[in-house]
Amino acid sequence: MKAIQEKAFRFIDAKRDEMIKTWEKLVNMESGTLHKEDIDKVAMFLKETAESFGGHARLVEFQQAGNGLVVEFGNPTDKPQVCFLGHFDTVFPHGTVSKRPFKIEEGRAYGPGVLDMKAGVVIQLYVAKALIEAGYSDRQIRVVLAGDEEMGHPKSDMSRVFEEECAGAVAAFNFETGDVSNALVVGRKGTATYDIAVQGISVHAGREPEKGRSAILEMAHKIIAIQALTDYEKGVTFNVGTVKGGTVRNAVPDHAEIEVDVRVMESEQLDEVDKKITDVVAHTYVEGTTTTCARGVGIMPMLRTAGNEKLFELVRRVSEELGLETPHPVISGGGSDSAYSVRAGVPTVDQMGVKGQWNHSDREYAVVDTLFERAKLALACVLAL
Ligand SMILES: [Zn+2]
Repeated sequence: MKAIQEKAFRFIDAKRDEMIKTWEKLVNMESGTLHKEDIDKVAMFLKETAESFGGHARLVEFQQAGNGLVVEFGNPTDKPQVCFLGHFDTVFPHGTVSKRPFKIEEGRAYGPGVLDMKAGVVIQLYVAKALIEAGYSDRQIRVVLAGDEEMGHPKSDMSRVFEEECAGAVAAFNFETGDVSNALVVGRKGTATYDIAVQGISVHAGREPEKGRSAILEMAHKIIAIQALTDYEKGVTFNVGTVKGGTVRNAVPDHAEIEVDVRVMESEQLDEVDKKITDVVAHTYVEGTTTTCARGVGIMPMLRTAGNEKLFELVRRVSEELGLETPHPVISGGGSDSAYSVRAGVPTVDQMGVKGQWNHSDREYAVVDTLFERAKLALACVLAL
């Protein structure tokens, strides 16, 4: 394995410029999560790239969501496969690329999705190629990529695809947005979202206010009740993120609405959350108002399992052997598709992508050198399994 590692490392060293060019190409392809046409082009580009690398690639096609992609490098062996997870959609709408295309300045790369997580996709493909070129055939490497991760797969069954492709794997590495502090993720919170609206009765605020029913007042009570549900000890948090209501100053408002974000540690907590929100919605503080509630898409939590911890220990040990900074394990508040590999019972470590900051914003940047550093780390981890 040492000889394979040395050979594969040499491959990565030799391909530095090519890796950056592929990264640039990928960042410069529009891939806003809502634009299926754009996403499907990226999926096709990656399929062709993966095939030119010797992988067997298949599109996972959806009617109303961006296509996903599965690539198998090497044949199945008597040992279980290793999975690389990620996504190639971004939160940025069509047109972002022309405004701020890929660029590198002072060792940092910029552009939409440069960190979250197009670099991660580049790493996956080159690691697989490097291993195969170096003669690795111990396990199949299976890359599973979503094209609709940023919205949480509301219109596809990509979450099921992740579970199925990961089933039986020895380990999964998710190459999501790496952290400059060198934290690696061994657990992630799940999310639930709610849209709540109150209907009241509008009247003139001066002439006969007593006949009105204020939707804003009703909602104000409900906001306080919802925020009070937060339980930091259990890791369950409620956030009323937006509030809208009323039309003019001098009328009793007949409409108010809020958007609520909830985070949980375990899937079971989602049912409790649902019950608590339902109770608040059902309780009327201002007689004569009515409240409706719609539950939106959520993301399952990535449970912090003993398997994840053990896999993290392997990554830590390998990091130290390579002379890299020692990583530390964290639970992240943000969701990812690692939820589904863990649900399939597969030890998973997440946030293995390039290091950087400010994803989902135009300040997003990635540290260029970590593209190669993380590729070597991942590569050595596969060999150490
Ligand atoms: Zn991401």
